[in-house]
Amino acid sequence: MDTNRDLISRLEACEWADDALRAALELKGEAQQALFALARRRRQMHFPDNKAQARSVIEISNVCHQQCRYCAIGRTSQERNYTLDAPTMVKLVDYLYGKGRRTVLLQSGENLDERFIDAVVEAVTDVCRRHGDLRLILCLGDLSEEDYARLRNAGATDYILKFEASRADLFAYCKPKDSLQNRLACIMSLAKVGFRVGSGNIVGLPGQTLDDLVGDLKLAHELPLAMNSTTIFVPAENTEFAAEPPGDPVRTLNMMALLRIMNPHRLMPTTSSLQKMMPDGQYLGLMAGANTVTVHDGTPEELQRFFPIYSAKRVRPQLDHFKDILRRAGMTADHLD
Ligand code: SF4
Repeated sequence: MDTNRDLISRLEACEWADDALRAALELKGEAQQALFALARRRRQMHFPDNKAQARSVIEISNVCHQQCRYCAIGRTSQERNYTLDAPTMVKLVDYLYGKGRRTVLLQSGENLDERFIDAVVEAVTDVCRRHGDLRLILCLGDLSEEDYARLRNAGATDYILKFEASRADLFAYCKPKDSLQNRLACIMSLAKVGFRVGSGNIVGLPGQTLDDLVGDLKLAHELPLAMNSTTIFVPAENTEFAAEPPGDPVRTLNMMALLRIMNPHRLMPTTSSLQKMMPDGQYLGLMAGANTVTVHDGTPEELQRFFPIYSAKRVRPQLDHFKDILRRAGMTADHLD
């Protein structure tokens, strides 16, 4: 126990040596609770009101030219491609705004068709012109710096682009049509054109080692991010990784706590995949330092099954669930009623 106390003291003193990070990723039981408590203290220092950001998501297109080995999108013949047009995107954002939401995430596969980017630019321009207090987050994958600049100039302020894995060959194994180098260049372009950038990794990817996770923590710390995240690997049906073991929820929570401890000022979500893989997973994510919840109330119901990312049996938590876990974690969120 003394050794664990020393470890927590080292982390509290901002000592991010590899051996300390490795040991912290493995903590369980009481020692893990001490790690979470440090994460919450760090969160409170930078977010003293104990408020979480509540964001609503609209999945605007499932068209994707990537073929990530872990992703279930486009894997079955029952699935059909869809892309919302600009007026539909605007209508859905208006609907969420009318419900009181002030943060909306527009998410899609990596769809490089310029007509799609044009449609997003049109929708973002329209929405931002009419709703000055709306925070618009985009998650559209690797695009050119020119397209990022167009989207930023249209009024979107935030962009999420995960680096997924900090070891280049692991990244290439999981995302054979992309490279870590390219993705990091995109992250730097996003920061350069003025986006608040979010990024993060996946815990439990096939072939991933503990040292890889240490590398992920260090990379996340070095990047110019306003938001960071970690998500748990879910072996999705019909994918090349379907028979692989799932990620370890305990390690995922430790990763979250360490991201909070190392980057206390950043937003960090508690993910629906964690809820799928562990009882009360999203509540535990808040207890490990998260301060963002994503409500899946923007994508039209008839399209939801065509956006399965980590599973066709995806968890899509709704309002009551978030109110409950936030209350139990001693937190609140604006714009969640
Ligand atoms: S994870 Fe994203 S980029 Fe990869 S195949 Fe799925 S939708 Fe495309």
